Amino acid sequence: MNKEIPVLYGKDDNCCACGACVNICPKNAISMKKDRYGFLFPAINSDLCINCKLCKKVCAYQNVNETNTPLKTWVAVSKNKEKLKKSASGGVFYTLADAVIKEKGCAAGAAFDDKFELSHIIAYDEKTLEKLQGSKYTQSSTGLVFREIRKKLNDDKTVLFSGCPCQVAGLKAYLGKDYSNLITVDLICHGVPSNKAFRDYLKFFEKKKNIKVKKFSFRDKSIGWGKNGSIISEDNYKFKLYETAESYLYYFANSLILRKNCYSCKYADSHRTGDITIGDFWGLEKEYPELLGKNKIDESKGVSVIIANTDKGIDFIKKNRNLFDLYKSSFEKAAKGNTQLNRPSRYDTKRETILELYADKGWKAVDERFNKNIGIRKYAGVLKSMIPARVKRTIKRFK
Ligand SMILES: Cc1cc2nc3c(=O)[nH]c(=O)nc-3n(C[C@H](O)[C@H](O)[C@H](O)COP(=O)(O)OP(=O)(O)OC[C@H]3O[C@@H](n4cnc5c(N)ncnc54)[C@H](O)[C@@H]3O)c2cc1C
Repeated sequence: MNKEIPVLYGKDDNCCACGACVNICPKNAISMKKDRYGFLFPAINSDLCINCKLCKKVCAYQNVNETNTPLKTWVAVSKNKEKLKKSASGGVFYTLADAVIKEKGCAAGAAFDDKFELSHIIAYDEKTLEKLQGSKYTQSSTGLVFREIRKKLNDDKTVLFSGCPCQVAGLKAYLGKDYSNLITVDLICHGVPSNKAFRDYLKFFEKKKNIKVKKFSFRDKSIGWGKNGSIISEDNYKFKLYETAESYLYYFANSLILRKNCYSCKYADSHRTGDITIGDFWGLEKEYPELLGKNKIDESKGVSVIIANTDKGIDFIKKNRNLFDLYKSSFEKAAKGNTQLNRPSRYDTKRETILELYADKGWKAVDERFNKNIGIRKYAGVLKSMIPARVKRTIKRFK
C-alpha cells in the first residue's frame, strides 16, 4: 500500500518557497529542490514523512490571513551618510538593524556567500550586518533560519527580521504566536528571479569579459539613485551595469523572469505582513517637490518610504526617529509611484519563452535574444544616467 503524504502545493503558483514547511517538519523530511529554471520548491522525503500535516497547516501562502494595514507613513533618509551610500534606498534597513544590534539584539536578512548563493542569515555584529545591506534581486533561501530565530526569541533576544512579504508571513506562521521581542520588516517587492539564473548570468558575464566577479551591486548610487548596478572584478575593475543594457537587470525589471507565484502575489497591496514596510519613495518629486533641492533631500543618494502597520512598528520608528530625516506622508501618496503597493507585477507570456530558452540553452542564449530584441534602446539607460538629478526632477514633475 502506498504511504499517504501531504500534497504541499499542487500548482507552481501555490508556493512562494518561504520555507515555513521546511522549518516546521518534526522529521526534517522536507527540503528545497530546484525546478528546471532554478526556482526552489519544497519536496517531501516519503520515507521520513509521518503525515502529521504540520507542513500544510503552517503554509501562510495558501491560508493568507493578513490583517495589518498601514497606520503611518513617512519619507525617510538615514542620517548615516556612509551607510546610505551602500543601501538601495534611504538606508532604513541598515540604520534600524544597527540600532537593534547596538542594544545586544540581532538582525536577519539576505546575504550572498562567496559563490553568490543568496540565503537568510543572522547578523550579531556590524561587520556581518554589512553583508545584509543592499537589495539583491534574486530569491533568498531561508534554509533553517526560522528555527534559529525562534531560539533567539525564546532566549529573550530582540530580533529584527527583514525579507520579502511572503518570507515575513512564513516566519510568523512558523512561530505561531506573537513575540514582543520580534520586529518584522517587509520589503515592497516586485518579485524574484531564481538564484540559479542570476548565478548563470554572472558566469556568462565572467566568461564574456574574461574576469572573476568579486562584488556585485544591483543598485550602485555612483550612477545615481535608480536601478543601475555594477560589478567589481578580482583585479578591481568596475563595470557599470545599466538596467536597459544588461539582460538580467532588464528582464528582472520588466517582470519577465520572476517566480510564477509573484504574478499573483497575495501581499502586493495595502495588507502588509511586517510591523513595518520599507521601499523606495518613487515619485517624490511629484508628491513633495518642496522636500528636494539644495540643503534639503538629495534624491541622487536614495530616499525610502517607511510604512508602520502595527503599533509595535510605530513605536519602533518613533524610538529611532533621531537616526533619520523623517517627513510625514501617507500610504496613498507612496502607493502612487510604487506599483507593488497596489498590485502584483504583470504576467507576460514572454516569460515562458525566455525561461524555456534559459533551461534549454543557458544564459548565453537568453543574452543573445535580449541583444537582438532590444537594439539601440539599450542605450536609453546610459543616456538617462548622464542627466543631472535636478534636470530629471523637473522633467518628471511635468510628465
Ligand atoms: C527582490 C526585491 C524586489 C524589490 N522590489 C521593490 C519594488 O518594486 N519597489 C520598492 O519600492 N522596493 C522594492 N524592493 C526594496 C528595495 O530594493 C530596498 O530593498 C528597500 O527599499 C530597502 O532599502 P534600504 O536602503 O532601507 O536597505 P537596503 O540595505 O538596500 O536593503 C537591505 C534589506 O533588503 C533585504 N534583502 C535584500 N535582498 C533580498 C532578497 N532577495 N530577499 C529578501 N530580502 C532581501 C536584506 O535582508 C536587507 O534587510 C525590492 C527588494 C527586493 C529584494
